Amino acid sequence: MNDLNRAQLRARYRITGRIVMDTALHIGGRGATTVTDSPIIRDGEGRPFIPGSSLKGAFRAAVERIVPNIPGLHTCGLSDADGACANQLRERTKDRQLEEVEMLALLDKVLCDTCRTFGTTHLASVALFHDAPISKIWRELPEVPTQIRDGVGIDRDSERAREGIKFDFEVVPPQTSFDFTLLLENPSDRDLELVAMGLQEFIGGMIPLGGIRSRGLGRCHLEEVMAQKVDLSDPETLKTYLLERRWIEEPVDEFIKTHLSTLLREEE
Ligand SMILES: [Zn+2]
Repeated sequence: MNDLNRAQLRARYRITGRIVMDTALHIGGRGATTVTDSPIIRDGEGRPFIPGSSLKGAFRAAVERIVPNIPGLHTCGLSDADGACANQLRERTKDRQLEEVEMLALLDKVLCDTCRTFGTTHLASVALFHDAPISKIWRELPEVPTQIRDGVGIDRDSERAREGIKFDFEVVPPQTSFDFTLLLENPSDRDLELVAMGLQEFIGGMIPLGGIRSRGLGRCHLEEVMAQKVDLSDPETLKTYLLERRWIEEPVDEFIKTHLSTLLREEE
């Protein structure tokens, strides 16, 4: 079976953890308010959260920076637009209606490793990043404390504020934490390898989030990480999963080591 055919659910992984901000975080929401020029994004209940799309973008970018160092792995993420998978697909599907089988075969041929794992316009991502809600201790506060920071532009020469570029923005303060959940459906070995790579960077504090990063915002790390899996093609596991919602837990360091060592061994 083409492993890009993802309709049947054969296996599912769940990685959970806590994203702890080491510096303040700014992920912009909509429009200026009377309080600030640039408010942070909030959920329906007015609480800050980190959109899954932001997490995925940052995680994917971190993986794409490492991938070119590994022989046999490819990413279009860092190349110029010409080589990008999306362009190749557009080129090859021009003026043609493809059957699903044909499309899968074509995707299998042209997609780079990171597009296969994190998705592209024609293929859903194997890695599903949930919106990360603020952790429970903050959820229980009547209001999450945020700060307004001054974003006055400084003229490098005079060190005086330049007129017209004055603005302020809202941030979530350092130490705030968010609940992280990443689901993987029917991951291939390669998908697991790329995810292990990203997790290692996230745990190590190497994946900044949000905006205004040139001022040091958005630094964070992932902690209390846990990996769980369920293999639905195994009748016993299927039974305990469906009857008792039971997952098999694996310490995350083990998960990372298992998958990265396969990858790095392949390379020798
Ligand atoms: Zn690609």
